[in-house]
Amino acid sequence: MFWDNVNDFFDISDATKKLCKNAEANSLEMFKMIDDISSYNQCKVLSSMTKNKLSDIHFASSTGYGYNDIGRDVLEQIYADVFCTEDALVRPQIVSGTHALKTALFGILRHGDELLSPVGSPYDTLQGVIGIRKTKGSLAEHGVVYKQVDLLEDESFDYENIKNAITDKTKMVLIQRSKGYTFRHSLRISEIKELISFIKNINKNIIIMVDNCYGEFVEKLEPSQVGADLTVGSLIKNAGGGLAPVGGYIAGSKDLIELCASILYAPGLAKEVGPTLGLNGVILQGLFLSPSVVASSLKTAILTASIMEDLGYETCPKSTEIRTDIVQAVKLLSEEKVVRFCKGVQMAAPVDSFAAPEGSSMPGYDCPVIMAAGTFVQGSSIEFSADSPLKHPYIVFLQGGLTFEHGRIGVALAIEQMLQDL
Ligand SMILES: *Cc1c(COP(=O)(O)O)cnc(C)c1O
Repeated sequence: MFWDNVNDFFDISDATKKLCKNAEANSLEMFKMIDDISSYNQCKVLSSMTKNKLSDIHFASSTGYGYNDIGRDVLEQIYADVFCTEDALVRPQIVSGTHALKTALFGILRHGDELLSPVGSPYDTLQGVIGIRKTKGSLAEHGVVYKQVDLLEDESFDYENIKNAITDKTKMVLIQRSKGYTFRHSLRISEIKELISFIKNINKNIIIMVDNCYGEFVEKLEPSQVGADLTVGSLIKNAGGGLAPVGGYIAGSKDLIELCASILYAPGLAKEVGPTLGLNGVILQGLFLSPSVVASSLKTAILTASIMEDLGYETCPKSTEIRTDIVQAVKLLSEEKVVRFCKGVQMAAPVDSFAAPEGSSMPGYDCPVIMAAGTFVQGSSIEFSADSPLKHPYIVFLQGGLTFEHGRIGVALAIEQMLQDL
């Protein structure tokens, strides 16, 4: 029905409409599963709000030092309850996922400590933070030693080498849930659980941090519920529900959170400062919407995968695979196709639809990156967006969609652009 009327507003060919209709018909089973998880997570968020007696006094603003901000305290307790941790740090002073992760790393690691990634190379911007790529002020400059064990050929954990890499200096293990700019599967909560118990069996004192970016509310459990000591993410991705204009979170035990707050602000001040500048309400409302927004993003991703598979492209994950994050990768094998696809995504944006995205260099990335993001919040990738490092094999990464109603038309326009005169 929808597809029969879409030409009232947008030019979409019969061929593209047919692809979309087919893909949606084939995805109903997956959509049902997503709705079920979304309802579960809505209850998780709602019950955390009712339990903490959230009230409109908590939406009041604080400025300056931000002392005695009871709204901030309740916001952080709600996050802690959602993630089933003792405490959380949820602040507008954290500007991105990278900043949240950096805060946790620098908060905990000291000179001579070892950091291990047992799941291969971390996200591009973190390579600078850690000092894998030589960067001013990195952890490496502070005397922290980094070790890495790659996944095996079949993408499973290399337990033998992980065991060998752990020494009595190993203070922290970093597990990245989402695949980042790679074409491998993202780590499911069940896999993260298995890896954490393996490591804790070797030494229970090792602090496990999970980079949860793009993962929140995709499954029923979060990493903190399967043994992660710190769970970290961005509020302009899943957890902010598209409403948070800035922010990041770290969830974990009281003492670890205090270390993180001490490096974000200052030792001795820690969580006692941090003005919320009137953002408590919108951050909480975003959290409230997040499970549903994540479901819309997942449906948009599945629709994309299904259409692209129909057209013969390799997708990751496949349209029928169980998901653990909102990112959809498609191997397009052509720069031209990536640019056209991104152009279509941009054309469907509510903001800056008239702009034509092109590749450019970005801080923290080692090749030109093209980004289609006509978003209300700058750089927000819980909003419908696509990006791609412009290098072989030209993989486009699509994520977000505040509503599936928007996501489906966005995907149609992207496909339409990509297929034009090819
Ligand atoms: C987005 C992302 C980050 C952090 O990125 P920011 O752009 O700084 O928010 C880190 N890790 C993963 C896996 C990500 O997807």
